Amino acid sequence: MSAVDTAAWVREFAALVDAHATELTALDAAIGDADHGTNMQRGMTAAVAALDDSKPATAGEIAKQTAMVLIRTIGGASGPLYGTFFLRFAGAVGDGADLADFARAFRSGLEGVIARGKAEPGDKTMVDTLVPAADTLDEQVAGGASARQALEAAVAAADAGRDATTPLVARKGRASYLGERSAGHQDPGATSAALLVLAASRALR
Ligand code: ADP
Ligand code: MG
Ligand code: MG
Repeated sequence: MSAVDTAAWVREFAALVDAHATELTALDAAIGDADHGTNMQRGMTAAVAALDDSKPATAGEIAKQTAMVLIRTIGGASGPLYGTFFLRFAGAVGDGADLADFARAFRSGLEGVIARGKAEPGDKTMVDTLVPAADTLDEQVAGGASARQALEAAVAAADAGRDATTPLVARKGRASYLGERSAGHQDPGATSAALLVLAASRALR
């Protein structure tokens, strides 16, 4: 039975953020302040460096350390939000041995993002990616899917959620300052959140 390896997940996310940093910053240039790619790159590079240094043993310790590094190193909205995601994930993952552990912890991470940022689905934020991913993971667990099947379905749901942010008017974060002019642009945080889900699908061990 395969499961998402938390350390591999963090490393895969860092690699995807690196590969997409220019795109993330370009999306943020359109409706924000053109720093989402560099913010995420700085945070995830530091998160990987911390893993290399301290080699935490358990899924919870790895996620908690990642959370602390993200909160410390990312200025801007995404630092506390991704930090809270990983912190709440850490508290719920248990030994992280199976898909149900991952789904439960992912849901807990999402709840942390919502508690912290107060965004609802449709507000044009990372929540629009994380909600369909969490819902899909829960459905897949309930249906007895393999981890591989479940993560593939979650990636598709996350990508659809991300794409659906394009026509929306932003109601949270900097993009909300633009009002109606934020419509017609894909949300940067929804885009990085889809990379987070894709990274998990690449971290099955
Ligand atoms: P900043 O806006 O401070 O420069 P970033 O550019 O790194 O921070 O991140 C912007 C992203 O953060 C947005 O695209 C959005 O997805 C997400 N975001 C902003 N505010 C919120 C919020 N209150 N709840 C959830 N996500 C948010
Ligand atoms: Mg920004
Ligand atoms: Mg900023």
